Amino acid sequence: MKQPTAAPSLLGVFAHPDDESLLAGGVLAQHAASGARTAVVTATWTADSHRATELAEALSVLGAGAPRLLGYADARNPASAPDGAVRLIDAPLDEAVGRLVAHIREVRPDIVVGHDALGQLTGHSDHRRAHQITLLAVEAAGLPRLFPDAGEPWQPAVLYAATHSESGVGRLGPLLLRFRGRGLHPGCRAEPARAGRCPSFARHSVGQWMAASGAAGGRG
Ligand SMILES: [Zn+2]
Repeated sequence: MKQPTAAPSLLGVFAHPDDESLLAGGVLAQHAASGARTAVVTATWTADSHRATELAEALSVLGAGAPRLLGYADARNPASAPDGAVRLIDAPLDEAVGRLVAHIREVRPDIVVGHDALGQLTGHSDHRRAHQITLLAVEAAGLPRLFPDAGEPWQPAVLYAATHSESGVGRLGPLLLRFRGRGLHPGCRAEPARAGRCPSFARHSVGQWMAASGAAGGRG
């Protein structure tokens, strides 16, 4: 049975340590502050990697409890798994989905928030894989015949995909140039003001959604 809480419980599912803070830090902290249960599953970087400590500290600040790791390596960084764990993008889909289903059934969240289908601005392959796994696991967690050894079935009510707004990306132009200048189109690389609109970066236009949801005029 679901316990009544002040705010719906929230589970974040992200690819790397820091994605939870960059993409959903505000909502995680806000939910925790309002008395809701919150937790975060991180798909890559294993417990013996140096970023596990950083993740634990971030989650402590956000009020999201202890790290929950899927135990895979980052697609681009072997130091993410000193013991040689397989990369998230190479892991069997069933295995990765099953590991996440176990966390969903244990946390029993009302809401799950994760990566968008594009993998955010950089289109990182770990982000896109984490999105696929999250979609499947949220569905599978509620089905008793799937992953029967991964806990009692639990169906989250809502799945949100964190993304970057088009207007927000525009303002990030100079910063994007600094940390990912090589990935930009030549014309955009030369001109900071254009960098935020570079087609190299994936983003969604949320204007229509904002208008339809009545969110326009609220906090941006
Ligand atoms: Zn990331």
